[in-house]
Amino acid sequence: MNLSLVTPVYNEQDNLPLLFEAINKVMPTMNRTWEVILVDDGSQDNSLAVLNEYAKKDPAHVRVISFRRNFGQTAAIAAGLDYAQGEIIVLLDADMQNDPADIPMMLAKLDEGYDLVSGWRKSRKDNAITRNFPSMIANRIISRVTGVHLHDYGCTLKAYRRDVLEGFRLYGEMHRFIPVYAHSVGAKITEMAVNHHPRKHGKTKYGLERTAKVVLDLFTVKFLISYSSKPIYLFGGAGGFLMVVSAIIMLYLFVRRIFFLVAIATSPLLQMSAMFFILGFQSILLGLIAELLVRTYHESQRKPTYTIRTMINLEQDPRD
Ligand code: UDP
Ligand code: MG
Repeated sequence: MNLSLVTPVYNEQDNLPLLFEAINKVMPTMNRTWEVILVDDGSQDNSLAVLNEYAKKDPAHVRVISFRRNFGQTAAIAAGLDYAQGEIIVLLDADMQNDPADIPMMLAKLDEGYDLVSGWRKSRKDNAITRNFPSMIANRIISRVTGVHLHDYGCTLKAYRRDVLEGFRLYGEMHRFIPVYAHSVGAKITEMAVNHHPRKHGKTKYGLERTAKVVLDLFTVKFLISYSSKPIYLFGGAGGFLMVVSAIIMLYLFVRRIFFLVAIATSPLLQMSAMFFILGFQSILLGLIAELLVRTYHESQRKPTYTIRTMINLEQDPRD
């Protein structure tokens, strides 16, 4: 199998026929073996019935997974990825805001040697105040914090080479952070402007609150990418900093006592110094516990702390 399209579906009954029409129009032009995996995320409308109908009509290409309840877009994408067989995976939304006609151009870019081609909704057709503006800010923050510079993390339409997705689990709203993960395992990433259409049927499932969740997820992602194999650097660093602050306050109090005869015990700075000391010490201990957890994580799952692109004259996994 060369190409898997993966699409999360939640209450999109009126969009699905348009989606299938667009997919069936573009796929035959590409000369690739392909499948489309549609994950029904507990829709309450007729989406599942529509999906089943198309799956029956075209069993060679259309595969459907149906959740027992609504688990969210990221979970739906994760399920699709688990069952996708293609060497190349393209994610797209089912609501026809993404345009399947963009897929050939993205795959051509992938063939130039990239591992991930990220769609960029250059002229995005969503609510300017609740979606586009906050998302622009979020994209800038994410780019800055992670060092992976993309204009549009939130665009579902992206093409991936399968190996950059392996070994990565999706939680929360994490699907948008796949490029960050891919970058951390050494993927070559590029982006290209893609079409974006206003929603014709149904309505968006998100509002302003989504951006807040994304920013919280960013903390997790940054921590996992930068410190998951060396948490003591973060906890120890923070703890060390607090203890230094505590020491400086103490020193100041002593100097004041000796040269200016101001009592130490009555100053609120004494409590502050003690608090910083305790917090700092605790933080270092937390870091040590985190180090234990990291070892358990890597060793119990036999997860290496590195990723290999190619090997020469070597085939066997050293752990087997
Ligand atoms: N979606 C989903 N589960 C959800 C919410 C959304 O599978 O809980 C799907 C939805 O059907 C669509 C895609 O995720 O295919 C994007 O959702 P939406 O269009 O509401 O997001 P927006 O384009 O407004 O960011
Ligand atoms: Mg949409």
